[in-house]
Amino acid sequence: MIHYKLLTPGPLTTTDTVKQEMMVDHCTWDDDYKQITQKIRGELLEFAHVSPKEYTVVLMQGSGTFGVESAITSSVGRDGKLLILANGAYGERMEDIAKHAGLNYRIQNFPYYQVPDPAVVAQILAEDPEITHVSMVHSETTSGILNDIESVGKVVKAAGKVFIVDAMSSFGGVDIPVADWGIDFLISSANKCIQGVPGFSFIICRLSELEKCKGKAVSLSLDLYDQWKGMYDGKWRFTSPTHVVLAFSKAIEEMKEEGGVPARCRKYEENNKLLISEMKKLGFETYIDEEHQGPIITTFFYPENCGYTFKEMYEFIKERGYAIYPGKVTEADTFRIGNIGEIYPEDIYKLIDIYKEFLATRE
Ligand SMILES: *Cc1c(COP(=O)(O)O)cnc(C)c1O
Repeated sequence: MIHYKLLTPGPLTTTDTVKQEMMVDHCTWDDDYKQITQKIRGELLEFAHVSPKEYTVVLMQGSGTFGVESAITSSVGRDGKLLILANGAYGERMEDIAKHAGLNYRIQNFPYYQVPDPAVVAQILAEDPEITHVSMVHSETTSGILNDIESVGKVVKAAGKVFIVDAMSSFGGVDIPVADWGIDFLISSANKCIQGVPGFSFIICRLSELEKCKGKAVSLSLDLYDQWKGMYDGKWRFTSPTHVVLAFSKAIEEMKEEGGVPARCRKYEENNKLLISEMKKLGFETYIDEEHQGPIITTFFYPENCGYTFKEMYEFIKERGYAIYPGKVTEADTFRIGNIGEIYPEDIYKLIDIYKEFLATRE
């Protein structure tokens, strides 16, 4: 058995009770199972503050990227044009998706430490009327920045375009009023802030836009519309990750007992603020400024001339019970620490003590 906690942005540390749910082999045709799927779909709508009259949830096999690829390729199709706003690797992945599917798209890049500017989006939409869809990431896990999807959503809706949001690492851990913010498709996955295990993603879809996806998909297995139609009674179109679904249902139950989205937001924010303030005391500065730093994951600079590598630091910390994450921003030397999952202030303090010990060995 491996005994360390994950300070990563997902998969993350889950409860023992969530893991125990996976000790059952469940039949996919069974009514009980179909009801679990339906229950999950309903609860996700509640977390999103939307009504089943206006929105639905489609579950999709595969990791988060499968969900993003499904939503983008099924809604933009062969006739639309997608504007991608990117300030990190996950925004850039949307370009990769569009390229592979042969979609008509345009990408607007922003520096990794800066949120996409709604004024720039408004200008592009005004000068390029071909654009039908706009996509962006909410919590850019690359850096930890929390993008302002509310302001961009206003601009997108004012121009009458479809708004697609990758809220993979924020949904459930940052409150998102999906309808109020003009979101038509929102994607997240089982192994992020709801604290399940990896195996499927989910797409919260505005029904009126989902209806328009009929016959548009460029892939069979990622056809969002067909997946939705097939799921009407809770049965999945193709084999579903049964163990993962059971674990996810349990994770939602535990999240509701804990106080739902508001309680989870509070917990992550407290963890994150504590982590940053304690790391700063040790001389580690953050890559993202305080105003835009999100509560999920933090990118830290190495102190100047520190003389150690990520691997040395990682191994030292792992031996003492925690796994951290390498940096992903391209222009600076950084590493990342996530604070979502079954992580508590005592874990942060323990990590800080490990850092103190590590730094002492380097003096
Ligand atoms: C985790 C994540 C994804 C999905 O990555 P997978 O490896 O496919 O699970 C997409 N976008 C963001 C912002 C993420 O944090």
